Amino acid sequence: MVVATNLGFPRIGAQRETKKIVESFWAGKVNEVALDEAAVKLRAENWKLQKEQGLEHIPSGDFSFYDHVLDHSVMFNVIPQRFRHLADGHERTFAIGRGIQKPATETQAKVDIEAQEMKKWFDTNYHYIVPEFETNQTFGLGSKIKTLEEFNEAKALGIHTRPVVLGPLSFLLLGKPAKNSHGLDLLSLLPKVLPVYEELFAKLAAAGADWVQIDEPCLVLDLSAEIIDQYRVVYNRLGAAAPSLKFLVATYFGRIGNNVAFVKDTPIAALHIDLVRSPEQLQSIIDNLNQTQILSLGLIDGRNIWKTNLAKALELANAAVKAVGSNRVFVAPSCSLLHAPVTLRFEKRLAQQKPELFDWLAYSEEKCKEIHILAQALNNGAESVAAALADNARSIEARRVSPHTTNAAVRQRLEAIVPDQLRRRNVFATRQKTQEESLPLPRFPTTTIGSFPQTKEIRLARSKFTKNEIDEKTYKEFIKKEIEFCVRAQEKLDLDVLVHGEAERNDMNGWIASYGSRCVRPPIIFGDVHRVNPMTIEETVYAQSLTNKPMKGMLTGPVTCLRWSFVRDDIPQSIVCTQLALAIRDEVVDLEKANIVHVQVDEPAIREGLPLRAVDYEYYLQWAVDAFLLSTTGVTDKTVIHTHMCYSDFQDIFQAIIRMDADVLTIENSKSDMKILNAFAKHGYSAGIGPGVFDIHSPRVPSTSEMKERADAMLEYIPARNLWINPDCGLKTRGWKEVNESLENMVAVAKALRALD
Ligand code: GLN
Ligand code: ZN
Repeated sequence: MVVATNLGFPRIGAQRETKKIVESFWAGKVNEVALDEAAVKLRAENWKLQKEQGLEHIPSGDFSFYDHVLDHSVMFNVIPQRFRHLADGHERTFAIGRGIQKPATETQAKVDIEAQEMKKWFDTNYHYIVPEFETNQTFGLGSKIKTLEEFNEAKALGIHTRPVVLGPLSFLLLGKPAKNSHGLDLLSLLPKVLPVYEELFAKLAAAGADWVQIDEPCLVLDLSAEIIDQYRVVYNRLGAAAPSLKFLVATYFGRIGNNVAFVKDTPIAALHIDLVRSPEQLQSIIDNLNQTQILSLGLIDGRNIWKTNLAKALELANAAVKAVGSNRVFVAPSCSLLHAPVTLRFEKRLAQQKPELFDWLAYSEEKCKEIHILAQALNNGAESVAAALADNARSIEARRVSPHTTNAAVRQRLEAIVPDQLRRRNVFATRQKTQEESLPLPRFPTTTIGSFPQTKEIRLARSKFTKNEIDEKTYKEFIKKEIEFCVRAQEKLDLDVLVHGEAERNDMNGWIASYGSRCVRPPIIFGDVHRVNPMTIEETVYAQSLTNKPMKGMLTGPVTCLRWSFVRDDIPQSIVCTQLALAIRDEVVDLEKANIVHVQVDEPAIREGLPLRAVDYEYYLQWAVDAFLLSTTGVTDKTVIHTHMCYSDFQDIFQAIIRMDADVLTIENSKSDMKILNAFAKHGYSAGIGPGVFDIHSPRVPSTSEMKERADAMLEYIPARNLWINPDCGLKTRGWKEVNESLENMVAVAKALRALD
């Protein structure tokens, strides 16, 4: 019999219960008991819901208040030195995730500990806390064994679950050596960490677990033969140590490729593969399993919101059943549903306002139901779920033929793109001269990345506007006042290129986990994209009217719009991206027409979209960079195109960045040494560049001298003519006081450099 399974359920709660209780805890409004009670309640609801939807293997241990990788580190007692003196408990876990700062009191010295690094989880927009390992790292189970506790918690409710743990190789490979342990070979820690896995598995077995899900997402990366060999050794050892347990090793986000070779020589009972990303891998995986191994088919897209085409999924599943027999098949989502919103039940507004679109959607709850339907169809024949399949086919067909997903004019425009639309009229060196002549700026021009503090008042006004408590006119007036305030502040600081401050920008709270308690609500791209109306012209022109200094227009680039949305899955992403690019191109051209000389097109997500396998880089970078070029090259030489990326990991993409041909690139740099700038120079980057001179994640006010030192070091690698002075990223999460002080010091740096020049 085919088994209906799940790999993980969202932990935020349908009404963002987790976020709310966690933030109340941080604010000191509730204690640990209340925090735990809320979690117990939510977990029970999630398990029950999955059971009601007909799932047989229901995950436990997938819940987290902050991040599951962090929880795993804590469970295995991998606590960085600097946190070890803190008492075991939620507070310490949060401290590792967020850092901790407390002023001195009469009885206690001040506490100020830096958080552990946060990194994007593979190619998703979810962030995990990077484990830090030391040369003398020890591992052990603490007093609270989260995975075991949650298994028992479900058991007490009469729900037999499949505990989920992060596998030993992915745990180590996703980590990094601690500062004091440079050069540590992460896999050398295997002999020390494996006994702890064995101990955990023995405890789970004793508690009655039969299946255990071991996540090894690193198996979809390019791995060396040595690492693959370690996989074989490790899983043989773990299997021998826990003979009563059945291991499901889960991979997701891509194809396993040749990495699968070790599986057949191990006691791994089941292998999960992502068939949404890589449906073509089915046959080769089947060929690489041994006669008893089960294949868990990831057929339901765990990273998107569309209903599954069940007929198509069934075709694939039937092929698998035919090849290995129904006793060796599970059906599952492609990955944990952590990356999908919780349920459609509360989408009342969408259901009312966009019933057509609503009919095409499936969130986590609905995805669980789809898994059940597939399993039923496989076990009892399609007739047994005929009504459900027919209903699904109707939705899929409605979406396919909907007049609202295709726009002939957009398609034609796409067809008509010519190479000239992907290049500026002249090369940077020529443009630079024109730009310097037509709008001279002081040497070492100062600017910011776009956003200024999003104050309580701004958020309140926006929330009132969304709830229709104030009308559009009132809201717009409010935004105008904010813009004016922001422009005056920048004039007072004597910055050179100003911004309007992005007060109108809303990063809506909502649907899916991004990091810690932060949730985001990605837009849905369901049809061909085009620009209905100008998007930023009014605000930008208004901001420019307030000042004689140049005002920088501010847009999000096509790749970032694409990456941070739920994107339609019926046409290639490259096409959606090109459509976005055309819409942005129109806006950039209109900004130029409105006499806006500086235009910034942010692309912070271009790196995150880099494929997981090196062979796929080239194709992606080709269309991604083309899209950026399409969006920015409609202007004359005198318009200064800026772009911004908020990270400093440029490995593998230097050439692509050079090809983007922006006039100015601002990047995060304040915490990195000058290695990146050196690499930029080596790769032949020769346009304007603004490596951040201060960290915007911290409320700390940097002194002029420390920033000057940084700028001096930059000048070793960057010609003075090309160097811009700016912070690492936008200032929206900061307060006005520290922003004013930091920028004042920053402007002083530029002035000091000019004096010497
Ligand atoms: N312009 C944006 C800001 O200043 C850039 C945001 C980003 O890079 N993520 O906030
Ligand atoms: Zn940024």
